[in-house]
Amino acid sequence: MKLLVTGGAGYIGSVVGAQLLAAGHQVVVLDDLSTGHADAVPDGAELVRGTLRETAFEVLDGAGFDAVLHFAAKSLVGESVRRPGLYWDKNLGESLALLDAMRRADVHRIVFSSTAAVYGEPETTPILETDPTRPTNPYGASKLAIDTTLTEYAALHGLGAVSLRYFNVAGAHGRYGERHTVETHLIPNVLAVALGRGESVQMFGGDYPTPDGTCVRDYIHVVDLGRAHLLALDACAPGEHQIFNLGNGDGFSVREVVEVCRTVTDHPIPAVEAPPRPGDPAVLVASSDKIRSALGWKPERDLPAMVADAWAFLRR
Ligand code: UDP
Repeated sequence: MKLLVTGGAGYIGSVVGAQLLAAGHQVVVLDDLSTGHADAVPDGAELVRGTLRETAFEVLDGAGFDAVLHFAAKSLVGESVRRPGLYWDKNLGESLALLDAMRRADVHRIVFSSTAAVYGEPETTPILETDPTRPTNPYGASKLAIDTTLTEYAALHGLGAVSLRYFNVAGAHGRYGERHTVETHLIPNVLAVALGRGESVQMFGGDYPTPDGTCVRDYIHVVDLGRAHLLALDACAPGEHQIFNLGNGDGFSVREVVEVCRTVTDHPIPAVEAPPRPGDPAVLVASSDKIRSALGWKPERDLPAMVADAWAFLRR
């Protein structure tokens, strides 16, 4: 298939782009390089630099694309609270522009990177796709608005859409991995200490109602996540918007993650307790039953494998 990968110069977009190419697809990356890196674009993909608003139609029109995989987004929760307008504009506004360009260019399939942040503070775990969506920050709200738009466009315009609601993505795929200028994620921050960048890890909050008092999250290897995108692409059906959670279904606490990082790196990685980070739910764990039964997906890489691959990437 000929595929447009928005955000293909970013962490997840570059890994999945590389997997799509390896599966024999043709990939064009559209990225404004606001947070991505030109040298992260997968080998064999063409890079078009531009915003979705200004460039999507020009790229799609008459070029014979079969589908779009839409990764491009702003994704920092804290920034979204400080600058909600930026998140509504870049995430929802540019997605609407992309959908409009797709309609005009006759491209009717899309796989969208949604997020567990659409659920907010869950009442029960593991989280099901049918659970209430009550995002607690503009990042999650803007992603939920795109999910809602996809449902409406599927019903109204015959779009075939799949939203994958990612839980905590980690790991790397060879030369493709996480390289954020502002790094907020736990695993890269812990590994940075093992690399000698920083003296200790800050563990945000030790009084959560969890077995060891630190937050519990569901970590999924970026390569397993990529495999789900290949299945989702095949599952896109005209007039349908399907939504799947994408996690391992297992929870690990911040302390447990730090411990796995110590084992993998063979470094003591000092860790100190710090005040809780505002807005962090105690436990976020996916039910992945739906994607397992509907698409036949299952995770193959565990937390030590994610940490080992992220560590190998960081040391390159
Ligand atoms: N966290 C931490 N120290 C850090 C970064 C993150 O204790 O330096 C915690 C964070 O509070 C959360 C968990 O690790 O409980 C996962 O955070 P991350 O930012 O990786 O993902 P999120 O679940 O927020 O999407």
